Amino acid sequence: QPQQPGVEYLMHPRPVSIDPEYQPSNKLQGKVALITGGDSGIGRSVSYYFALEGAVVAFTYVAGIEDKDKDETLKTIKELTKGRCGKGPIAIPTDVRFEENCKKVVDQVVGELGGIDILVNNAGYQHFNRTVEEITEDRLERTFRTNIFAHFFMIKHALAHMKEGSSIVNTASVVAYQGTSWVLEYSSTKGAIVAFTRSLSQFLVDRKIRVNGVAPGPIWTPLEVSAGAVPPEVLATFGSDVPMKRPGQPCEIAPSFVFLASNQMSSYMTGQVLHPNGGTIING
Ligand code: NAD
Repeated sequence: QPQQPGVEYLMHPRPVSIDPEYQPSNKLQGKVALITGGDSGIGRSVSYYFALEGAVVAFTYVAGIEDKDKDETLKTIKELTKGRCGKGPIAIPTDVRFEENCKKVVDQVVGELGGIDILVNNAGYQHFNRTVEEITEDRLERTFRTNIFAHFFMIKHALAHMKEGSSIVNTASVVAYQGTSWVLEYSSTKGAIVAFTRSLSQFLVDRKIRVNGVAPGPIWTPLEVSAGAVPPEVLATFGSDVPMKRPGQPCEIAPSFVFLASNQMSSYMTGQVLHPNGGTIING
């Protein structure tokens, strides 16, 4: 569970990865899915929902820091699928900021699982900032590399192995549309992901590969809680300004990824972004 001294976690629900009421229906049967950052928060929930829908799951994690998350995610996927996928799941340690690492991840997935049908770019990083001046070049570089460069790198290398009917889902954020007063460089990367998703969909339309995005609202995950030095007073109000007046849970976001990844559900959609955000109205 997320922990940070000084924050009253009991005010907030714990992250919930799976809705016990969810009824899977083989929407991704036999598809090989690669999910970056698939061991934590929204990505973990996506890993679980994809496995429940019959996909063979490969996910990345950060070695050392996230070994326990990786173990728990692997164990749960195995319990959920009871080995019915035949192959996988596999967990791949990496740092997505660098192209050579992304290429190695793709090579490993293709080597072990035979291809890639679904790519979910989910790994993300943010650091709290109140002023423009406090943003350093290092922090900009880390945020842009993690949140947008990695999308380019993963897609560039995965494409060689993605056949007609494959699907790419990128992770944007409500802050790309709405703006924010506390993560300036992060929101800039999320805006870039929206534009990237729209343009990439047009580049790939003739190859019959769909590209869509999900732009979650405030979701209760470790990104918000333990990373990025978000002050307790900001966390205490997290999610209170959306119409539903609460943060969402990862399990309320993962079904949007299933929908966009599945040709059964969204074969006539590309270049689009879904907005599971608690009711915030999006313009543009
Ligand atoms: P999280 O912290 O649980 O997950 C982030 C994931 O990114 C982790 O698995 C981590 O390993 C991975 N990651 C970070 N830096 C990496 C690096 N350099 N190399 C490899 N992996 C790296 O947080 P989350 O909220 O589940 O975030 C998942 C995605 O959802 C992110 O793209 C985030 O921007 C987006 N998002 C989150 C919220 C929210 O409120 N939590 C809202 C909108 C969008």
